[in-house]
Amino acid sequence: MIHYKSNEEISIIRESALLVSKTLGMLSSEIKPGVAPLHLDKLAEAFIRDHNGVPGFLGMYGFPNTLCTSINEQVVHGIPTKKPLQDGDIISIDCGVVMNGFYGDHAFTFEVGEVAEDVRQLLKITHESLELGIAACKEGNRIEDIGYAVQTHAETHGYGVVRELVGHGLGKSMHEDPQVPNYGRRGRGKKIKEGLVVAIEPMINLGTHRVKHLPDGWNIVTADGKPSAHFEHDVAVVNGKPEVLSTFDFIYEAIGKPSYM
Ligand code: MG
Ligand code: MG
Repeated sequence: MIHYKSNEEISIIRESALLVSKTLGMLSSEIKPGVAPLHLDKLAEAFIRDHNGVPGFLGMYGFPNTLCTSINEQVVHGIPTKKPLQDGDIISIDCGVVMNGFYGDHAFTFEVGEVAEDVRQLLKITHESLELGIAACKEGNRIEDIGYAVQTHAETHGYGVVRELVGHGLGKSMHEDPQVPNYGRRGRGKKIKEGLVVAIEPMINLGTHRVKHLPDGWNIVTADGKPSAHFEHDVAVVNGKPEVLSTFDFIYEAIGKPSYM
């Protein structure tokens, strides 16, 4: 069942979405070759608690950390390790918080040092896919219109759209109805209505759309070992239109806009 949110509830979710956005902004200037993802995780946990939030992923379904840090061929749900980042890596950082009883959920794929041109292009198109998905999240459309927009843009560029993992409703739970796949057919799925709040999060692979689950039960990697990108925003339908509650502006203020923009 979909819980449509009141304006008051959307205001509270916006606070949570802003805190995850600020957390990624704070982390962005720390991301460089030689830095361990586990260090980023500890910084994020302290930052969230200092701002009266609680890490949303820590302990959820038994997840051991504040951040999911997914490097190169890791798609999502990477567990932060002590292995230092290397020049040319990409790292997708996904972060959740809960504050005042509502969740925020947000992700960005960062470049570490100098990244190969084909990988930078993947980031650009994934980013654009997210923007197109958000634009489709409006009254008069249906849920699959979001995925249709994402999929069309990504596949036009020859990329693989991950099927097994999807966006989702967001509120008092991190994962609520409806599921928001990054693929779909035009005009299918539930009607998009006022008060809908969803996390839209394309996961796009440089190669095949297929993924593999690693034995640790968390890590999901591309089946062909090629890189994968992940960007996520929290979006509310207000006055019939998409309103983005999270923002990449804190990242851009800290390290500038990515060179592909
Ligand atoms: Mg997320
Ligand atoms: Mg999510």
